[in-house]
Amino acid sequence: MNAKQPDLNAYWMPFTANRQFKESPRLLTKADGMYFTDDQGRQVLDGIAGLWCVNAGHNRPRIVRAIQEQAAELDFAPPFQMGHPKAFELASRLAEITPEGLNRVFFTNSGSEAVETALKIALAYHRARGEGHRTRLIGRERGYHGVNFGGMSVGGMVANRKMFGTLLSGVDHIRHTLDIQRNAFSVGLPAHGAELADDLERLVALHDASTIAAVIVEPIAGSAGVLLPPQGYLKRLREICDKHGILLIFDEVITGFGRTGQPFAAQTFGVTPDLMTVAKGLTNGCVPMGAVFARQSIHDTFMQGPAHLIELFHGYTYSAHPLACAAGLATLDTYADDQLLTRAGEMAGHFAEELHSLRNEPHVIDVRNFGLVGGVELTPRPGEPTKRAFSVFLDCWEQGVLVRTTGDIIALSPPLIASRDDLSRMVAAIRTALRRLA
Ligand code: PLP
Repeated sequence: MNAKQPDLNAYWMPFTANRQFKESPRLLTKADGMYFTDDQGRQVLDGIAGLWCVNAGHNRPRIVRAIQEQAAELDFAPPFQMGHPKAFELASRLAEITPEGLNRVFFTNSGSEAVETALKIALAYHRARGEGHRTRLIGRERGYHGVNFGGMSVGGMVANRKMFGTLLSGVDHIRHTLDIQRNAFSVGLPAHGAELADDLERLVALHDASTIAAVIVEPIAGSAGVLLPPQGYLKRLREICDKHGILLIFDEVITGFGRTGQPFAAQTFGVTPDLMTVAKGLTNGCVPMGAVFARQSIHDTFMQGPAHLIELFHGYTYSAHPLACAAGLATLDTYADDQLLTRAGEMAGHFAEELHSLRNEPHVIDVRNFGLVGGVELTPRPGEPTKRAFSVFLDCWEQGVLVRTTGDIIALSPPLIASRDDLSRMVAAIRTALRRLA
């Protein structure tokens, strides 16, 4: 054991096999650009932008400086009935890059909180316009919307749900969009499955549209293993929502801020939701922050009563925290300076070629890609689901490349500054691991 290693017992780690980790810890001590440094001094190429969040790469001077200066100038400002200039500035700057019409911004501290906030706004919006009977929330199988009760309920990953009781009532799910039989090894968006959006019509027929407040989906489902929307699927979902007066919420916590080649996947796919949740790349992962972007008409619906009354009884102590706002502004500047919000589109071709070169490697049953998101699905080891992909993760770590796995799927979501060589090296590490593992 490393002499400098801390006592590992007290920290109960999130989404981690604690005992296995503590037997053989992986500790990161520094980061710069595309690389982490571990406690052994090894350089580790970051294939997942930290956790789909460090889109501009690590340790960007402008962001670091902004946080340092902000901490020395205004450490905290109460967000209720008070404000500070950078909160308004950041909201305005964001509204310049959001899809058309989504120009009102509510700040949270995480993606999970952004999801809870969006769901609450959806419910309260319908009530404010006299349709308080619209209380039902619809998610999608294999969706991930964070870990709080609302997000967990509309989420569709069984391991995240099964331990926590009955969750919210009045929630239902449409079918997920993964169809390996028809779409395996599609380059970019799969051709088959737009009709899966019609599953929403099934739920409308079952529950009646008048009971449904909103549908929430990730344009690309990340945490469940890179599930892509079939061509035409999101447009169809939008049409069905419009037909029935149902709000469409896009959870862009991982697709936001350049991952798909435009600032937001809504723009890449040409479908505008009514509400959108973001986090992660909003501050380049440097300070926790999330946000909900709302259509102005939704916001304005709340602005009808007496002006001295609070319109929405919701918010967090750390909503629009000064450090997060400073980080957010400097992050937007960095994205603009380096033209990162469109770079994924330029790198997508090379990335796709590299990823799909894994097609004939052992155990690979599907490769999925879009922008700078990639997924490689493996057959599970008999009786030991998840172990094969996790072995690939460990092997890549040994090779000095950080990838992520979920189930038996390996996911890549490199920082948007990644060079062609960086992308090639990530894929090469996966190839090496696949070839030497059972
Ligand atoms: N929504 C989506 C689509 C996510 O991918 C995540 C996190 O990965 C979340 C919500 C939750 O975000 P956080 O972990 O910041 O609460």
